[in-house]
Amino acid sequence: MSEIEKNIELVKKKIKEAALRAGRNPATVKLVAVTKTVRPDRILEAVNAGITDVGENRVQELVEKKNLTGDVCNWHMVGHLQRNKVKHIIDTVSLYHSVDSIELAEEIGKRAERLGKTAEILMQVNVAGEKSKYGFRPEEVEDAARNISHIKGIKTRGLMTIAPYVDNPEQIRGVFRELKRLSIDICGKNIDNIYMDYLSMGMSGDFEIAIEEGASIVRIGSLIFGKRL
Ligand SMILES: *Cc1c(COP(=O)(O)O)cnc(C)c1O
Repeated sequence: MSEIEKNIELVKKKIKEAALRAGRNPATVKLVAVTKTVRPDRILEAVNAGITDVGENRVQELVEKKNLTGDVCNWHMVGHLQRNKVKHIIDTVSLYHSVDSIELAEEIGKRAERLGKTAEILMQVNVAGEKSKYGFRPEEVEDAARNISHIKGIKTRGLMTIAPYVDNPEQIRGVFRELKRLSIDICGKNIDNIYMDYLSMGMSGDFEIAIEEGASIVRIGSLIFGKRL
């Protein structure tokens, strides 16, 4: 077994255990392998080891790797996205995790409509209010969702957050809990075309806590591919 295969097995095992600890069905947690800076041959190795969903945070890298690896997995955009770059990835991306403005949602909707598609998006929330992070403030999310609900060409599937970096991941349990609470709250408003079935939260350092708090998508890079240089 290669290193990558072993790492994927271990991550899957930990996902399963975290889900069971929380009384959840492990099948309700999707693993997205984050492949920023990872070479295409290693992405293919991960795909051969069972990875179906891959996430990138830069448009150019995503496009290059998609062209090199072919149509072997679902591509997720997990990083901040500039409106003028949406056109390069609109025919590739299966889920946009990091929609952080209404204008970006409009651009994605417009481009998707032109292709006769519906793009699936998540709204990124800056739960901890960090200056360095993108995303809607928690108190803005409902209004933004109401605005986004009118945009054609997109379907909002849920929320996403990037937790602050801390030494002890237990410190960020509250951030994940808050995102879950927000998604339940928004779901209860029954806004047209706003679904809250996906909660994208948890990375290599904190995914087990995120799953315990309700994550349905975890985005894992370094635990699978090793430390980024
Ligand atoms: C890099 C990245 C990840 C994965 O981070 P790891 O700590 O390597 O697992 C997840 N989500 C986003 C948005 C990222 O940019």
